[in-house]
Amino acid sequence: MRLCCLACPAPRAAGTYLCPTCWSRLPDPTRRKLNRRDHNAFARLRELTAAIQAGTPLHQITVSNNELRRHLATADSDRGENPFGWSDLPDPDQEKTP
Ligand SMILES: [Zn+2]
Repeated sequence: MRLCCLACPAPRAAGTYLCPTCWSRLPDPTRRKLNRRDHNAFARLRELTAAIQAGTPLHQITVSNNELRRHLATADSDRGENPFGWSDLPDPDQEKTP
């Protein structure tokens, strides 16, 4: 399968989003974030794709760290682990019951 750069018709390598030319035009912080392969990688890729589709110049594209979205995104998959640390508090309903 031939992979195309997200921002131009040039080919790109597997495991990258852009061709070397477009990649080099992204700001350094954006490249560093996009290089991270964590659970936010897909969210950052979506931001990059949305910015390209909106016509944002490559050197102006930024992506967020998505720290807040991480809690929301993992809320379903992390059942049993409360992200807000409330699980140690006594259940208010139990206290009322004699
Ligand atoms: Zn390109």
